[in-house]
Amino acid sequence: MSSSGRRIVIVGDSIAACTAARELRARGHKGSLTMIGADADGCYARPPLSKHVLKGEAVEAETWDLCDLDITTIVDRAVSTDTENRIVTTAAGTDVPYDRLIVATGAAARRIAAPDQAGETVLRTFDDVRSLRPRLDAAQTAIVVGAGFLGMEVASACAARGIAVTVVDVDPPLQRLLGSFLSDAIVARAEASSVQFVRTNAPVALVGEPVTGIEFADTKLAADVVVTCAGDVPQTDWLDGAGIADRIGVGVDYLCATAIPGVFAAGDVAYARAASRRAPFWSNAVAQGKVAAASALGLEPTCAPTDDYFWTEILGLSIKVVGPLPLQGEPTVLEGSVDDGSALLQWNHEDGRATIVAYGMKKAVGLLRKLARNNGVPTT
Ligand SMILES: Cc1cc2nc3c(=O)[nH]c(=O)nc-3n(C[C@H](O)[C@H](O)[C@H](O)COP(=O)(O)OP(=O)(O)OC[C@H]3O[C@@H](n4cnc5c(N)ncnc54)[C@H](O)[C@@H]3O)c2cc1C
Repeated sequence: MSSSGRRIVIVGDSIAACTAARELRARGHKGSLTMIGADADGCYARPPLSKHVLKGEAVEAETWDLCDLDITTIVDRAVSTDTENRIVTTAAGTDVPYDRLIVATGAAARRIAAPDQAGETVLRTFDDVRSLRPRLDAAQTAIVVGAGFLGMEVASACAARGIAVTVVDVDPPLQRLLGSFLSDAIVARAEASSVQFVRTNAPVALVGEPVTGIEFADTKLAADVVVTCAGDVPQTDWLDGAGIADRIGVGVDYLCATAIPGVFAAGDVAYARAASRRAPFWSNAVAQGKVAAASALGLEPTCAPTDDYFWTEILGLSIKVVGPLPLQGEPTVLEGSVDDGSALLQWNHEDGRATIVAYGMKKAVGLLRKLARNNGVPTT
């Protein structure tokens, strides 16, 4: 079949899905294109949700318009796929046939509530923000369970609102990925804010319904708002029995192809089989969306299926990272000073690669990429 006659179905409606849709049309796909997405708010960017949208500086999510793509949109949840007969079935019972399928169902927030316990608050969707924001408007205290990127962004939004916030985790903030050097710097910066850290090895349980606190070991903490930021879970339930998902997610090769011919995957739901772990960041979802689209058309991708750039905003600082993680040991300071909250840092890895971090320092991502490629040596 010519690629122009192919029916391509994308399941998912976020950045990986939208990038794939745009790339399919940009690379000349003239056949039918259908997107099945479960989010009633449609296509929007998640990174601002935990930053200025949660702080209250922006009211709405940043949405994307796909009108120019001649795309059929089905707002529903895919509940199963028959990869032999090439059909996706939605919750409403609609069967959607495909010649090529792109799986872009991302991840959902990992929850820690007891199975029958209601009222847990997480932050993954615009709807989550819509219900959390008015509660923060009225809150004086908050607890955040999890000191990863999302937990620290939520804590930062609370601090910016003048809320006293306690962040609970096994490890110091961001230490697992950014290492002790930057984690210590963030803890020092938090001392000047209303953010406190509590570490525990014990499992954390939510207390109350609605949730009014947490308990671990023999400690109980209460707050006006408790937010769980305990990682994410790939959305693969609708792929049960299809033979392409396992406990990590949907394994893909360098073309974003899954183990089933004609089925590709991109974004937070996917993991590179060569690495055996997901890299659930924005730039990766964009790169994989492009590669999955090209592969679905049988064309050469125009980029690699991974992109190791990500950014976060913590306690008023923008942190941009290009290069492999985790970071260990002390960096070389290329410019500025961490104590002053503005530094350009370089970590060298044993395999010869480098990671560049702009810590509170305004630097174009392109420059950071060049520095990472050239081991910290700027090129023109
Ligand atoms: C609050 C927040 C802040 C973030 N900030 C940053 C940041 O600063 N920097 C960074 O690099 N990354 C950040 N990320 C991560 C980044 O947003 C994700 O990597 C990116 O959204 C992944 O895109 P995706 O398209 O793979 O999946 P997702 O964004 O998870 O979207 C998947 C979509 O698929 C839909 N879906 C799921 N199951 C089904 C189904 N069965 N049928 C139909 N549709 C389905 C869902 O409704 C969802 O809309 C952040 C994430 C969050 C949640």
